[in-house]
Amino acid sequence: MRRPHSHNYFMKAVSLMPGGVNSPVRAFKAVGDDPIVVTRAKGDRLYDADGNRYIDYCMSWGPMILGHGNIKVLNAIRKAVRGGTSFGTLCPYEVRLAELIAHAYRSIELVRMVSSGTEATMSAVRVARAYTKRDRIVKFEGGYHGHSDQFLIKAGSGLATLGTPSSPGVPEAFASLTLTLPYNDPDTLQRLISERWREIAAVIVEPVAGNMGVVPPVPGFLETLRESTARHGIVLIFDEVITGLRLSLSGAQGVFRISPDMTTLGKIIGGGMPVGAYGGKKEIMDMVSPEGAVYQAGTLSGNPVAMAAGIATIKEINSGPEFYKDLEKKTSHLVSGLKDAARLTGKAITINSIGSMFTPFFTDGAVCDLASAMRSDTKLYAGFFRRMFEKGVYMPPSQFEAHFMSIAHSAHDIDRTIKYAYEALREL
Ligand SMILES: *Cc1c(COP(=O)(O)O)cnc(C)c1O
Repeated sequence: MRRPHSHNYFMKAVSLMPGGVNSPVRAFKAVGDDPIVVTRAKGDRLYDADGNRYIDYCMSWGPMILGHGNIKVLNAIRKAVRGGTSFGTLCPYEVRLAELIAHAYRSIELVRMVSSGTEATMSAVRVARAYTKRDRIVKFEGGYHGHSDQFLIKAGSGLATLGTPSSPGVPEAFASLTLTLPYNDPDTLQRLISERWREIAAVIVEPVAGNMGVVPPVPGFLETLRESTARHGIVLIFDEVITGLRLSLSGAQGVFRISPDMTTLGKIIGGGMPVGAYGGKKEIMDMVSPEGAVYQAGTLSGNPVAMAAGIATIKEINSGPEFYKDLEKKTSHLVSGLKDAARLTGKAITINSIGSMFTPFFTDGAVCDLASAMRSDTKLYAGFFRRMFEKGVYMPPSQFEAHFMSIAHSAHDIDRTIKYAYEALREL
């Protein structure tokens, strides 16, 4: 596949932007290639600056559950744009989207719209700290909650060691307020909480981890989390920026039937436009300004065009009774095809999947936390990625990312993906 135009754009981009991109993983550093430069996308396909076609399993990192350029969403955006692009006032679209969210998420009594997942999580933590009058938070190794300082924390070693910054620019003092625990380890969690609950404002968790590759919770993990936080007055925050509207209309909390105190949303609720949201119990959300004293604001929050895209997306999801079943069927067909391809070519691959998200880990052991995910052969994944990319399949350019299926993925393209995966694995 030739990509001279893409290459030229990237060279120019590198001279103008850090690493040539506006978000790091787009640069393909982990797979050692020039990044894809996309000019257009439709359905399950991306088209690059050289006119090459790719079947897309990245789907803008999650938001495009209806596929790219869904006509209903585009029409809703067009209609909204005709009325103006930003008012800086309350507008009916915000009320409608808030209503749809409250309807889908019983745990969300009040919601605040923001413009990204990062804003949602950092705001939720501020509110939780104010509510509990405690300062520390707990997150899990391999969990990603956007790029605000308090979340860019490496695990210390052993139980309840203080976090250390995983990025320069994050003060040690901030990092020390974040405690890090292994994912899927209810015993360690329980021990930490029973020892240190007086200091802990919130536990934030991806109820299905998606940012170390896909790692579903083991039975008992979320239940223990819910029970022990409730017992000690700790705010449980489900970061459903990926899983919200992905695993079901009511996210992972709907699937696992666990009700967090607060929820953060993003990605799909913006229908491909920049939107985030956080919400939860009225008693907690009443702390938020101007009702309460916790300050949080946004010039473009509740933007009418972005709200319209989110509303149209939810409407489309609701329009057929089998939306999530269809998505899951497509995904399990692809996953079982990939498993067969791995078996036939003698490659050690463990595929984690749930709903319409999955990750093929290049390891033969079970992957249930960051440590086991890290046992994957990232070099082999990079080789697999590059071969698939050359054949016209765009998977996430890192071993530790979720692959996403959309409702627009055709049986034909899924079958081609399986065939290419078999060829790619045989070549490796
Ligand atoms: C993507 C993501 C975020 C951050 O959202 P942005 O819109 O990229 O700021 C937060 N939490 C999770 C779980 C995510 O996957």
